[in-house]
Parts: sequence; C-alpha cells; structure tokens
Amino acid sequence: MEPNTLVCKLCGQAAAVHWQRRLTHEEADQALHAEQSRRDQAAALADPTMAAPDFGPMPNPQTYTITVCACPTHAIRLEFAALIHQATCTAPSADDLPGCNCTPEQPPAAEPEMAAAVALPDHWQPSA
Ligand SMILES: [Zn+2]
Ligand SMILES: [Zn+2]
Repeated sequence: MEPNTLVCKLCGQAAAVHWQRRLTHEEADQALHAEQSRRDQAAALADPTMAAPDFGPMPNPQTYTITVCACPTHAIRLEFAALIHQATCTAPSADDLPGCNCTPEQPPAAEPEMAAAVALPDHWQPSA
C-alpha cells in the first residue's frame, strides 16, 4: 500500500470518504504481475522436499476493486459512493462533482425478505 492512499485523489487533503472502482487495464496488469511475483517468491522459498505449493488459478483482476479517496469538498454523493465505479471513472473530478463521469455498477439484487408475517405452526412455538 502506498502511504498516501488515504488522501483526496484530487487535492491531496486528508480523505473523509472513499468508494470502490474497477481496475484499469494497466492496474489489472500490475495486480497480476504482483500476484505472479508473490507466487514466484513463495515457490522459491518453499521447502524443496515438500510438494510444490499449489496456488490455484490466477485471480481475475476484473473482480478486483481499488479504493478511491476524497476529502469532504471533493466527495461524490453518498449513493454513488456505495456503488462500484467503472475503471474509466475519473471521480473525484471538479467537472463532475458531486457526481462522476461513469455509470456505477448496480448492486446485486437484495435477498427477498423472509415472510416475517407468517405465523409459526402451533407445535413450533416455544412452550411457556
Ligand atoms: Zn479534495
Ligand atoms: Zn463513477
């Protein structure tokens, strides 16, 4: 982690809010590269008398997000900050505040509420 990740991306002031953004191709390449060197290092350090470490398939960096921080002045709206933004999102950008230039991903549909109003069968009631 870089030491300055908790400052506003636009002005460098202390960050008050943050949201998630998908990785650009460049960042995705870096993430894969970092993962590969982590594996190479772990493999090099592994006990040669043991079975080679199995790291599984490489992760898909398209599922990663990175955190974007902003100060109170440059914060996007709360409902936008709750969503994952596209890799192309430039927020916080003075031109678009308090919105952004992308269409954030919609959250997965909420679980349907259990029908709380339905009464339990009589023989399921705790005995008094
Ligand atoms: Zn700022
Ligand atoms: Zn956005």
